[in-house]
Amino acid sequence: KKIVIALDGHSSCGKSTTAKQVAAELGYAYIDTGAMYRAVTLYFLDHHISLTNPKEVSDALKNIDITFHYNPKTGRNETYLNGLNVEDEIRKMYISNQVSEVSVVPAVRHAMVAQQQKMGKRRGVVMDGRDIGTAVFPDAEVKIFMTADVDTRAKRRQQELLVKNQLVNLTDIKQNLEKRDLIDSTRAESPLRRAEDADLLDTSHMTIDEQVEFVMNKVAS
Ligand code: C5P
Repeated sequence: KKIVIALDGHSSCGKSTTAKQVAAELGYAYIDTGAMYRAVTLYFLDHHISLTNPKEVSDALKNIDITFHYNPKTGRNETYLNGLNVEDEIRKMYISNQVSEVSVVPAVRHAMVAQQQKMGKRRGVVMDGRDIGTAVFPDAEVKIFMTADVDTRAKRRQQELLVKNQLVNLTDIKQNLEKRDLIDSTRAESPLRRAEDADLLDTSHMTIDEQVEFVMNKVAS
């Protein structure tokens, strides 16, 4: 029987890497919900959408189409905004610096959550984000809440960006992670928090393989 696996938690604690591998092992789809909020942020910035103007926001949301397509060259699912590959663009710091403010807007959340529920309605998905176990799929069969100490997360994030030829200093990354976690966990609409029935996973001293194994054990039990 196919299930839904919800991986929520703080920024940069290994959610997407873990989710990707678990999805591959199970033959499930992997959905990076953070990429969707990042794509919305890119669109809003490009079109100078004012977050305090409800009409502008709702009109913009109607014009936003986000899809994921597998790229055999990179071996990963890449994010498309209105038919354009934005995978690299949405990982840049200027997007990271605005995405939490955009994600606070209830209309944005409603649109994304509805699409995520559609994507997972036949189950057989691993979804990572902030509110999957609490708001998107409260009935997910496996729920994990991931965290790690902030210095470890900042270093991992810096390494990820470096691989993409982006040199960002550690202080800027750490500040961004702390800022996002604060906004994400204090917003009114579906804030980042551990669902009561989610297992806590602190990855500070874990390898990716150990994280994957932890999730796979939950799937099996
Ligand atoms: O996962 P990632 O770090 O790429 O997410 C970027 C941002 O998108 C988060 O900091 C958060 O503001 C927002 N987000 C959200 N709900 C989700 C996934 C991401 O609000 N389910």
